[in-house]
Amino acid sequence: MVKERGILRSMYNASLNFHDVGKVDKRIWSTLWPARVSFFMWTVSKRKLLTQDMLQRRGQIIVSRCNLCYAAPESIDNLLCTCPFVWKIWNSFLEDAGVSTVLQGSVIEVLDGWHKKFVSRQAKLVWKMIPVAIMWTMWKERNRRIFEEKGQCWSRVLNSVKVLIYS
Ligand SMILES: [Zn+2]
Repeated sequence: MVKERGILRSMYNASLNFHDVGKVDKRIWSTLWPARVSFFMWTVSKRKLLTQDMLQRRGQIIVSRCNLCYAAPESIDNLLCTCPFVWKIWNSFLEDAGVSTVLQGSVIEVLDGWHKKFVSRQAKLVWKMIPVAIMWTMWKERNRRIFEEKGQCWSRVLNSVKVLIYS
């Protein structure tokens, strides 16, 4: 545990040096979700998630294709935000909350624009958890499709996101 905390601390300090992450740090490091999810979010913010475009850049000979929409090449931004399959899930939460100011964009753009004022603390915490729950669920769904060759339909994936947030 102590060792894990030490690693997380050094990653946190390292992430502070990245000007493009900025305010996003506060949305990554939280006790609201497990440390492995914080680590995943940190990997995303540092753009080090091993998506297929990244593996190609590292010399692996693979076809980069999003396993959610099967249309675009797989990149961090497509997989977690701009993919139509994924954006429909983001949009479902935005519509429920009556928010029209968060525009579809890169991960950093969406996280930076993720604002809404709430009176209740509970609602504030739920709002904070939504982006993390969506991205974590998308990554797991993507891995399930690639490594287990099993995929869930859109509404089941949306349900998995909600279970993560509300349970
Ligand atoms: Zn896609």
